[in-house]
Amino acid sequence: MKVLTQYSVHFRDLDNSDYEYNFTVSDSFFDCFEKSEIKGGDIDVKLILSKKPNSLELDICLSGRVKIICDRCLEDYYEQIDFNDKISVELGDKTNFDTDKEFVILDRNENEINISQFIYEFAHFAIPLRHYHHNDKNGNCGCNPKMLEALKKYSNTKKNNTVDPRWEKLTEIKNNNVK
Ligand SMILES: [Zn+2]
Repeated sequence: MKVLTQYSVHFRDLDNSDYEYNFTVSDSFFDCFEKSEIKGGDIDVKLILSKKPNSLELDICLSGRVKIICDRCLEDYYEQIDFNDKISVELGDKTNFDTDKEFVILDRNENEINISQFIYEFAHFAIPLRHYHHNDKNGNCGCNPKMLEALKKYSNTKKNNTVDPRWEKLTEIKNNNVK
């Protein structure tokens, strides 16, 4: 988790004003999250932190590319992302980043805030629902044809291994007669 400590911002000593920070995200970032659909990437992250007396506002902008697995041919491909959203942070009793409210809560005794969870979530919001290789400029499927062929063969073998329903019926009759 050492990788993620670099996404901490010290805000305690800041005056009430806006501050800009820049980060980069690479493959090792996503290795820190076990369930990540994103397997890697190169993302520039810009954070504008607005410090207020009892709250912070984080304006986070992601721009770059992420590596995800194609649902069709199961090979990695890159998806371009551009995503921007804000997080309101209230200073409260106990840190809770998973509130169902419009804001998250940070323990008011904290001196810094780590934005890696927000980067992770925003990157996942930014990717399309379906993960497919893009078509090439001639409109042809961008998937690996060898993988598609292999997957087709595999699913056909699976189909052939299932029992013909007519035989199933006969076996049933036969079994009943035995009883
Ligand atoms: Zn593909």
